[in-house]
Amino acid sequence: MSPTVQHTQSAYDAPGEKVRRFLSSPRAMLIGGAWVPAVSGHVFDSVDPATGSVLTQVPDGDAQDVDRAVTAARRAFNDSNWRRMSPMDRGLLLHRIADLIEAHADELALLEARDNGKPVSVARSVDVGTSIKLFRYFAGWPSKLEGSTIPVSPRGGLRVLNYTTHHPVGVVGLIVPWNFPMSMACWKLAPALAAGCTIVLKPAEETPLSTLRLAEILSEAGVPDGVVNVVTGRGATTGAVLASHDGVDKIAFTGSTETGRLVVRAAAGNLKKVSLELGGKSPNIVLPDADPEAVAEAAAEAIFFNQGQVCTAGSRLYVHDALYDEVLDAVSARAEQIVVGPGSDPDSEMGPLVSARHHARVTEYVEAGLRQGARLTAGGGRPDLDAVYADGYFLRPTVFADADHGMRIVREEIFGPVLAAMRWSDVDDLVAKANDSPFGLSAGIWTSDLGHAHRIADELQAGTVWINCFNLTDPASPFGGFKQSGWGREMGRKVLDLYTEVKSVWVNLDRVTGA
Ligand code: NAD
Repeated sequence: MSPTVQHTQSAYDAPGEKVRRFLSSPRAMLIGGAWVPAVSGHVFDSVDPATGSVLTQVPDGDAQDVDRAVTAARRAFNDSNWRRMSPMDRGLLLHRIADLIEAHADELALLEARDNGKPVSVARSVDVGTSIKLFRYFAGWPSKLEGSTIPVSPRGGLRVLNYTTHHPVGVVGLIVPWNFPMSMACWKLAPALAAGCTIVLKPAEETPLSTLRLAEILSEAGVPDGVVNVVTGRGATTGAVLASHDGVDKIAFTGSTETGRLVVRAAAGNLKKVSLELGGKSPNIVLPDADPEAVAEAAAEAIFFNQGQVCTAGSRLYVHDALYDEVLDAVSARAEQIVVGPGSDPDSEMGPLVSARHHARVTEYVEAGLRQGARLTAGGGRPDLDAVYADGYFLRPTVFADADHGMRIVREEIFGPVLAAMRWSDVDDLVAKANDSPFGLSAGIWTSDLGHAHRIADELQAGTVWINCFNLTDPASPFGGFKQSGWGREMGRKVLDLYTEVKSVWVNLDRVTGA
């Protein structure tokens, strides 16, 4: 049983006052530099997942609001203030954004913890920390978006100069999920701004608040009116309208594979560019020469980090026969020790799931695991918490041993704190099983034999492979999925291809006078 969480005085008391003020009135959305309600006047509740109570209300945008935002973004894209801003000045703007996020880091972390449910320490180090790094990294790129001169071979010995230039793709729609609300937005905002695009950003309906606070920071940093617009609303309405809007040149989407398919269909009308970061069901592989204690600790972290609501979560644990019982006992023991409580309490290691709907969905997977015959070795139900959290969406870290490849808990993305562990002995069979998934986002390998690790890494169908580590990402390193885990790569220099068009210019050097 998880310990009951006690409230403590913390470093977050002062930023807490700012968050209380932010939550004390209904929020507006940012369109064309103005803070506005939805045209319809409709709002929806943003809910505290730790208690089920309403934090505040945000505009429930619809087609009219998306239309206004796209128009504002188009106007800003055509405005010479933005178009002609020098690369160095665009870089400085991104640096100012990073500095301001850092200056408000504790407040943003607390707001994220309240809205999403995650531990405030995770929000501070991962969500806010990553957002700062992203803007710092991409601040260096506007001045480095170089083209090339190409040694072409034209007919008839004609002498030509052929060179390429890079241009912003235009108005981009960014649709992001609720698991890392602010940093997922920054994964897209920072490279899109570096490339010179203008933006309509739609946060997830479960977690709009940090994005709205971030939009205030962007304005304060000097982002020109209309360059970044934020429309809050539901996926099936606001998101779908943005994905199908003819005034949008590109959609960058992060979310479930199922919704990714809808986005692709919606984008077909004007054949806008689409990039997708989708779901995963990542294998975490333990070889017989790994250190069982260290691996068990890491395997627990790989699945329970952020309540398991991570696209790369190490949700399929494959342990070699020689270590299976030892690792399983240790992972299960670690799962039972994890302190589950409200995210705003600095002592919590794991918070509630994001919503009642998601809690019901994950719980259904726990029931499916039991029904299909997996052996429950930890968790499976609610933790024992103070009465004030009785309506919160908590679930104890859950471990299933002896899972089978046909089970739903092995095949489907749960996106919650539920681990399915399996035994293996033949390495070819292991690799085949690890790859037997429609997803291909990431994988982990634990061993002291690096040669063996590299050989297995080469065979795995995954966009990221971690060897003796897990869930490491960096703004400089490309990230994305094989198979149905996505299209394209975010972060690193690769992401800039998603936000730029390349132009090839041909000059006839034999007719330089135009005669
Ligand atoms: P989701 O697909 O339900 O929603 C994601 C976003 O899409 C939200 O903003 C939502 O409002 C919007 N949306 C919903 N329906 C839409 C539609 N018809 N048209 C346009 N937009 C629509 O996903 P979620 O539940 O918010 O997030 C969890 C999923 O995201 C998981 O599958 C997870 O693996 C994935 N994810 C992937 C990555 C990655 O980088 N690969 C990162 C984080 C999350």
